[in-house]
Amino acid sequence: MLTRTVKSGLEKIAGPANVSFSREDLLCYSYDATGASHMPDAVVFPGGAGEISLILKMANAEGFPVTPRGAGSGFTGGSLPVGGGVVLSTERMTALVEIDTANFTAVVEPGVITGDLQKEVEKVQLFYPPDPTSKGFSTIGGNIAECAGGPRALKYGVTRDYVLGLEVVLPTGEIVNTGTRTAKGVVGYDMTRLLVGSEGTLGVVTKATLRLIPLPQSKKTLVALFPRLEDAASAVAGIIASKVLPSTLELIDAASLRCVEDYTGTVFSNAAGAMLLIEADGIEEATEREAEIIKKVCAENRATEVRSARDGKEVDELWKVRRALSPSLSRLKPTKLNEDVVVPRSKLVELVRGVEEIAKKRGVIIASFGHAGDGNIHVNVMIDKSDPVEAEAGERAVEDIFELTVGLGGTISGEHGVGVTKAPYLGMELTPELIDVMRRIKDTLDPNGILNPGKIFNSISTAGRREEV
Ligand SMILES: Cc1cc2nc3c(=O)[nH]c(=O)nc-3n(C[C@H](O)[C@H](O)[C@H](O)COP(=O)(O)OP(=O)(O)OC[C@H]3O[C@@H](n4cnc5c(N)ncnc54)[C@H](O)[C@@H]3O)c2cc1C
Repeated sequence: MLTRTVKSGLEKIAGPANVSFSREDLLCYSYDATGASHMPDAVVFPGGAGEISLILKMANAEGFPVTPRGAGSGFTGGSLPVGGGVVLSTERMTALVEIDTANFTAVVEPGVITGDLQKEVEKVQLFYPPDPTSKGFSTIGGNIAECAGGPRALKYGVTRDYVLGLEVVLPTGEIVNTGTRTAKGVVGYDMTRLLVGSEGTLGVVTKATLRLIPLPQSKKTLVALFPRLEDAASAVAGIIASKVLPSTLELIDAASLRCVEDYTGTVFSNAAGAMLLIEADGIEEATEREAEIIKKVCAENRATEVRSARDGKEVDELWKVRRALSPSLSRLKPTKLNEDVVVPRSKLVELVRGVEEIAKKRGVIIASFGHAGDGNIHVNVMIDKSDPVEAEAGERAVEDIFELTVGLGGTISGEHGVGVTKAPYLGMELTPELIDVMRRIKDTLDPNGILNPGKIFNSISTAGRREEV
């Protein structure tokens, strides 16, 4: 609970119109894509770094938690105010400060929607490649905090590869600028890298300088259908082995394909056991050549059909289908245990085989799809959590999947972060020594533990464990 002094302090800092204590508003900011809900005591919509600095200073003095929030589209509960306190929403901070066409950079505020930034820079033939499937609603601040990836990460890398510098308010309220506006820069520790992916636990991003690249001239979108998931996975390995690097190499298994077909009305083939959605981009001649190689590799891996999208309309249709995958899975079961595991690409076939075995062993449906080209599969254990037997089987299946992934030299999260939901499994991947170093960094920057507590290290509540769809 916030004291009356704190409440009036927040109103004084941000202006009464930008603070809410109403139950309806608090409810709207109490959940994210996990579906779990934790009520904050206030939601504040600051206008800039100065206000955030004052709020954080007050939080340290008065001892209340502050949770930064972008669009609330995170899958691991990062923006859930698990300890109550203040939700700091960046939705008023949406300025696209500058697009520098001479130096290929953009300066943006954290509340800018990723897809909006992409559209703006494309108008001047520049390209911001990170494109989480949520790009239509997730924010640059949230993407930076989670180091978001997405389908194009295979060729272009993830958010961290495009962040040159940040303006950040530290948990104790100091405003600092990290990194550079130049292409290179090695003065001091790389604080920018530390902050990207820190899940809003080490500072609040209030401005970002982003690297842009030239917009690729042409793009070719292909669809390949396979009788079995394993064939599609070996085609992925074959494409990479052929030294062609598509911008997108997305794998969709039969269970996911049926759901999304049902949901969108698009039917690919009732006989398909898996589908690959592939995009090559670059100079036109090279794109054509790459598409030919990709088609050949797919055919060698038993593809029953491989074809190019006929026109822009079909490309849009295919991406609509891809974006509808996650919500469409609710047709299988009401609760989705959504895990974004990654293995070295060469281990992809072993991963999908192992996941199929786990589904059989635990008696649960597992729908897999994702950015297979970089070894990142979204493994969705579908259960009805109101059935205790199914809920238990789902939990065990998730543990098995994590064990399998780590055993294959992989990681338990490629892009969704640890947040609340994966905090109990941190020790599966990191050694106690490394966790201790990370905790000490957190304690140094946030000695009073006010910024986004309960994330990464200690799960305050397992209520935020899962997404419900
Ligand atoms: C349908 C769907 C598809 C998705 N696809 C992808 C995908 O392909 N790739 C991918 O990587 N993710 C994906 N996600 C997950 C999610 O969209 C990303 O993690 C995204 O980066 C979260 O952005 P957000 O603005 O919603 O942040 P939120 O969910 O609001 O917050 C996420 C974290 O960032 C912190 N945060 C937010 N703003 C700031 C700030 N200014 N400063 C410091 N910390 C901050 C929060 O405290 C929290 O810890 C998907 C989600 C959905 C629902």
